[in-house]
Amino acid sequence: MSYKIPMIDLKEELKLIRTPILEMMTEVLDSGEYILGEKGEQLEKIIASYVQASYGLGTANGTDALLLALKALDIGPGDEVITTPLTFFATGEVIAEVGAKPIFVDIDEETYNIDPTKIEKAITKNTKAILVVHLYGKAANMKDIMDIADAYGLKVIEDACQAIGTEYNGKRVGAIGDVGCFSFFPSKNLGAFGDAGFIVTNQKEIYEKIKSLRNHGSKKKYHHSLIGMNSRMDEFQAAVLLVKFNFLDIFLHKRKEVAKRYSEDLPSILRTPDKHNNREHTFHQYCIELDKRDELASFLNNKGIATAVYYPIPLHLQEAFDYLNYKLGDFPVAEKVAKRILALPISPTLTFRDQNYIISCVKHFLQG
Ligand SMILES: *Cc1c(COP(=O)(O)O)cnc(C)c1O
Repeated sequence: MSYKIPMIDLKEELKLIRTPILEMMTEVLDSGEYILGEKGEQLEKIIASYVQASYGLGTANGTDALLLALKALDIGPGDEVITTPLTFFATGEVIAEVGAKPIFVDIDEETYNIDPTKIEKAITKNTKAILVVHLYGKAANMKDIMDIADAYGLKVIEDACQAIGTEYNGKRVGAIGDVGCFSFFPSKNLGAFGDAGFIVTNQKEIYEKIKSLRNHGSKKKYHHSLIGMNSRMDEFQAAVLLVKFNFLDIFLHKRKEVAKRYSEDLPSILRTPDKHNNREHTFHQYCIELDKRDELASFLNNKGIATAVYYPIPLHLQEAFDYLNYKLGDFPVAEKVAKRILALPISPTLTFRDQNYIISCVKHFLQG
């Protein structure tokens, strides 16, 4: 289905960056260096410094970034990792993938992220880490989370896949915990032209370990000291990201402007995000809440406006996690939000006119 107004308009973005991207990609083509080359190294420095982290590493995708983070922290069978049930499936999937047990903790209705007041009850002698998600680009309550982690000696991994550039108390997310993970999936706030991911850390040891793990546990060719995996960012994606990085702050600013306008013009009964808090949110998604969510979605759909639900089924109710024996009612806040949440189109290229149209259609629905 093609919409008059899509969730995000990557073709419109491409018009702005097509020429420099083709030039940069041609450089890669001519270099003959396609994996672990100059562009990737350049990107690692630039992104690490942008996130205010000491070290950065490109990976094949965001999911692998999370997987490598868990492996680097030696998390595996017998271990428990605490996380949120309201996130993309990959967050929970990687915990199970390393053989550890995902332990879900309900969300805080204000941030849509893990509720720190409920974490301590979930900690056992097997708990090794908290995997925090900054959902929709909104920072989780990192102060309380770091305090709990410190008190119990737990590691903190940040799933910042939706939150590059988001700040929390003057720090960029991803660089606050032990390891931070990003996704450069095409539709993310910084998107490649294929799969790509990124890891940041301030700890040299973790950096060295992940650098080896992403390359078959090898530091020297054909010498393997660890069981690793193949998860490197290719040079073409690095080239695309080097160009797009120059637009990141402009694009994030545009997103915030669109978000502010939504929050000013839409009735607060829709639980619109706070329009003043523009550092802790980079608006990967702009979400509203209402009981008649599905009706509004189909109303807008008929007007040519795309919407999306992130996410309709919380992780504890996903079939793949049946073996964990969670049930409906275990996490009432996440369950309620999953039924009511609706993401409206937000992209740096959304025009005033199109946004006015969206806003007037939403208001029309509420009045009808
Ligand atoms: C996109 C995303 C991922 C996975 O990233 P990929 O690059 O698609 O593997 C993980 N967690 C969250 C919260 C995401 O939004």
